[in-house]
Amino acid sequence: MKIVIIGPPGAGKGTIASRLSQMFGIPHISTGDIFREEIRKETELGKKIKEYVEKGLLVPDEVVIEVVKKRLSEPDCQKGWILDGFPRTIKQAEELDKFAPPDIVLNFVCPDEVIIERLSGRRVCKKCGKNWHIKFMPPPQPDRCECGGELYQREDDKPEVIKKRLEVFREQFTPIIEYYRKKGLLVDVDTTPPPDVIVENILKIFKERGLIK
Ligand code: AMP
Repeated sequence: MKIVIIGPPGAGKGTIASRLSQMFGIPHISTGDIFREEIRKETELGKKIKEYVEKGLLVPDEVVIEVVKKRLSEPDCQKGWILDGFPRTIKQAEELDKFAPPDIVLNFVCPDEVIIERLSGRRVCKKCGKNWHIKFMPPPQPDRCECGGELYQREDDKPEVIKKRLEVFREQFTPIIEYYRKKGLLVDVDTTPPPDVIVENILKIFKERGLIK
């Protein structure tokens, strides 16, 4: 099963991708994660892409395409994969169609208010890194983790920054959404409900499309 997931930050891509990955025994591949790891390890590739990633600019197509091509040729991708963050340009989508055409594209749809509520309520522990949510998973004491560490709000989880991230997402992905919609590969998935319900709905879609029995 070759799946492309498209969705704004906070729409639940990470959670759902990890469930589908376990369920189907296929890797969840996020180009953003690959790039951040290469930068952290200070590899040749990391040095080449650092500036783009840190400024939130698109890494040049030739570089991204090469990275994805190589990753998808690894043995763990034989049964399929879940791509997240790629393609982001029409050129990338066209190239992917040449070397590994996706079976389905899941377009995660979630109202901005829900995303803002989810992300702006997130608090991270300075000591152990655990994530809390002031409403959905409140810490034992305000601003304190169960380990005693102090909680903080990530800079990019502040409402003004979230709004900007949502704008960038729309700018980059609207043409890609249209590209796959025209091909009949795109399915909208409402990601407002809890994860179990989202996964159930996705499995229904896979069945309807004859991707699973
Ligand atoms: P993400 O975690 O998906 O938001 O990606 C973080 C950053 O990595 C982006 O802001 C880009 O700088 C870079 N990046 C990730 N995927 C791509 C892609 N498909 N094409 C170009 N740049 C990318």
